[in-house]
Amino acid sequence: MMVRAARGSVRTAKSWQTEAALRMFHNNVDPEVAERPADLVVYGGTGKAARDWASFEAITSCLTTLDDDETLLVQSGKPVGVFRTHEWAPRVLLANSNLVGDWANWPEFRRLERLGLTMYGQMTAGSWIYIGTQGILQGTYETFAAVAAKRFGGSLAGTLTLTAGLGGMGGAQPLAVTMNGGAVLVVECDPSRARRRRETGYLDELASDVDDAVRRVTAAKRDRKALSVGLLGNAAEVMPELLRRGVDADIVTDQTSAHDPLAYLPIGVSVDDWHDYAAKNPDEFTDRSRESMAEHVGAMLGFRDAGAEVFDYGNSLRGEAQLGGCERAFEFPGFVPAYLRPLFCEGKGPFRWAALSGEPADIAATDRAILDLFPDNASLARWLRLAGERVAYQGLPARICWLGYGERHLAGLKFNEMVASGELKAPVVIGRDHLDSGSVASPYRETEAMTDGSDAIADWPLLNALVNTASGASWVSIHHGGGVGMGRSIHAGQVCVADGTALAGRKIERVLTNDPGMGVIRHVDAGYERAAEVAREHGVRVPMWED
Ligand code: NAD
Repeated sequence: MMVRAARGSVRTAKSWQTEAALRMFHNNVDPEVAERPADLVVYGGTGKAARDWASFEAITSCLTTLDDDETLLVQSGKPVGVFRTHEWAPRVLLANSNLVGDWANWPEFRRLERLGLTMYGQMTAGSWIYIGTQGILQGTYETFAAVAAKRFGGSLAGTLTLTAGLGGMGGAQPLAVTMNGGAVLVVECDPSRARRRRETGYLDELASDVDDAVRRVTAAKRDRKALSVGLLGNAAEVMPELLRRGVDADIVTDQTSAHDPLAYLPIGVSVDDWHDYAAKNPDEFTDRSRESMAEHVGAMLGFRDAGAEVFDYGNSLRGEAQLGGCERAFEFPGFVPAYLRPLFCEGKGPFRWAALSGEPADIAATDRAILDLFPDNASLARWLRLAGERVAYQGLPARICWLGYGERHLAGLKFNEMVASGELKAPVVIGRDHLDSGSVASPYRETEAMTDGSDAIADWPLLNALVNTASGASWVSIHHGGGVGMGRSIHAGQVCVADGTALAGRKIERVLTNDPGMGVIRHVDAGYERAAEVAREHGVRVPMWED
């Protein structure tokens, strides 16, 4: 079945709050947006929007008939109940892939999945706020900008980045590097993924073989030219080969789906045999993919020893490689402690919105509104200009930019006014990734190396979901295993709908203050001075923190 979200200002659901959930749910499985729409897989290995097609139909029907004092409960992609609540309550509450601690591993998850009892929700797949590769593009752009600031004088011009994975998230890497002025070689084993990134303008060129790829990126580095080149191959073979050839890499990372050993192609297995083999013999496949990841990380360590900036890009590659026998895997850091934590201390993270009208002009108008609201933020202005020029929309037009505490609610209120005045043709949904400052516990990623050792404390994302529910979000979700895989993360999402009403304005003001506020208090609690400064500046109340 081919799904496309409705567009325009006429709704079929009873209110814009539920119409918005319906459109975003459908948008997640639009073939322009989802990686494998026929299987309801949106991105990130097997991150799904609904458990199966029967659940898809049932959710669609519930959202179409839901009243504004009712709440739909979704358990791992299946609608399981509708309760009478009240107009401030979320219209949808979702819990995805959650397992009790001792059972929180892939084999048990897969057993339950085979029984039809659960699904993998990733982060924004099962919480219906995935907006295509742009969503990750901005975060990836920010990360590479931070690498440039740390090591290369603020620009990647004249540098070469090596990485792998051109999937839903990883596909952002080539464009993020070239937006920062650098040259990049991306290894991808699945030709259809590489073609897709070429077609959407995320990847500049495809090389015919390793020699050709090395020639092109080496020339680009020498000429200080921004260029992205894709190469078909297995990263576990190609990275060691590039190291043997002495390729002069400045930055090395990876975005294959290493968080799920069945979604990482081992050496010696063809793309055509991949999914059958993984389904028939998951244990053997897991061993082989972990061994390959050990080879892959071994090469990354070699580049590090040669002086390159090497980091894990949040896919559990180090953890899986260690299980595959690479003892030194954790010698290079994850990207959050290396580059992003200072932003998290300010409650900053990936704020995003989508135009339910389907009109690109609505996003252009919101871009201008953001520039007017934050005229002094030069990097935000640069991002919005580049995004306006270079980002092709997938599905409903959408935008993402990183905003922090004290900023997000201003943007949300402005959008709500623009809907009310008719400047925007239809309501706007406002959400974020779960990869945010106060909504995730993930010791290999967002909460790696917290100063007080609180990496694995998962109370924070649960409190985040509760406070967003109490503040008036339109839908709220609690997930397990997103980004880094089963047993390794717990995280929460929220989405608000700016439908132009005064009530929506009151909800938006609270949610978009309290949600990033969780990031500030989480980092104050952990002892980060920058978070304490932000709390002090904005009067964020933290009861046991002494000023
Ligand atoms: P995806 O499944 O859509 O794409 C992964 C790609 O890796 C696929 O195209 C696949 O063909 C390719 N691949 C697998 N094994 C390979 C190998 N051995 N050699 C070369 N290519 C190989 O996943 P995605 O959405 O792009 O996410 C990638 C990873 O990043 C996941 O582990 C995800 O959990 C993680 N992630 C990171 C962030 C972040 O902010 N850094 C955010 C969300 C997810």
